[in-house]
Formats: sequence, structure tokens, C-alpha cells
Amino acid sequence: MVERTLSIVKPDGVRKNLIGEVIGRFEKAGLKVVGLKMVCLTKKDAEGFYAVHRERPFFESLTEFMSSGPVVPMVLEGEGAIGKVREIMGATNPEQAAPGTIRRDFADSIESNIVHGSDAPETASFEIAYFFNALELSQGG
Ligand code: UDP
Ligand code: MG
Repeated sequence: MVERTLSIVKPDGVRKNLIGEVIGRFEKAGLKVVGLKMVCLTKKDAEGFYAVHRERPFFESLTEFMSSGPVVPMVLEGEGAIGKVREIMGATNPEQAAPGTIRRDFADSIESNIVHGSDAPETASFEIAYFFNALELSQGG
């Protein structure tokens, strides 16, 4: 099934000059970039984005981190895009991420792990709409 998913190059990925590296890995896997921007999240913006995690012990630190510098959200489209992006990113904890994944190759910690990817169709819809309106998403092939 052709899907759309949201990915974000997190502040650590931008600081490490990995924007092109991350997008390149997605493109090489056959995913199409249909939306792309650079934004700075306020603490409140980050809290809204990660609202599902608000009860978790890492919520405060995570939302501080996500608002610590610019991020590059993007919408990727393709066959099985949600799972493909998760596979290319690797596990949340870089020590557990498979060799050759973005997080294994570049992440410093379970928090500063370079990249975000939606985990299901419902979260993808919410997360895409959080960053992009219809005019900002290309419709053509
Ligand atoms: N995170 C963290 N500590 C944890 C688990 C997660 O700091 O113990 C951060 C990390 O940046 C992660 C984000 O919170 O990417 C969202 O967590 P989730 O479990 O959704 O992981 P993901 O879907 O990003 O792999
Ligand atoms: Mg997640």
C-alpha cells in the first residue's frame, strides 16, 4: 500500500550536518519527498507533537531537546513508507539499532537519536498535519 509518513531530522541531526545524509538514505530506498521544511519548535510545539508521551519520565528532557534548535520535518511517500522509514532509522536506542541504520551510524544516545519517524497510519496522519497543510504537500508523481 502506498503510504505517507512524517520524518524529522532532529536538532542533533541538523547540528551534525546530517540533513542531506538522512534525506539521501530515504531517497535511495525509493521514498519520495513530498513535503519538506526547516522550523524551530517552541517547547509548547514540541509538547504538542509528543503529547502521547506526556506521562513518560523522559518527556521534559525530550521536549527541551526537540526545541533546542532547528528541525527538518518532511513527508515521505511510497510503498510501505511507514515501515520502511522505521527500518532505515533503526531502534530508538542506538546501541540496539541494527548496523547500517541512521541511529546506529550517527546517534549519541536514546534521546539524541537524529531522526523521527511515524509508527502507524494514525500517528502519521496526525504528525503530517502537525507540520504541513495541503498546499505544502506535492500531489504529482
Ligand atoms: N526517548 C528518550 N528516552 C526513552 C525513550 C525515548 O529520550 O527512554 C526519546 C527519543 O528521542 C525517541 C522519542 O523520545 O526518539 C520518542 O520515543 P519513542 O518511544 O516514540 O521512540 P521512536 O518512535 O522515536 O523510536
Ligand atoms: Mg515514536
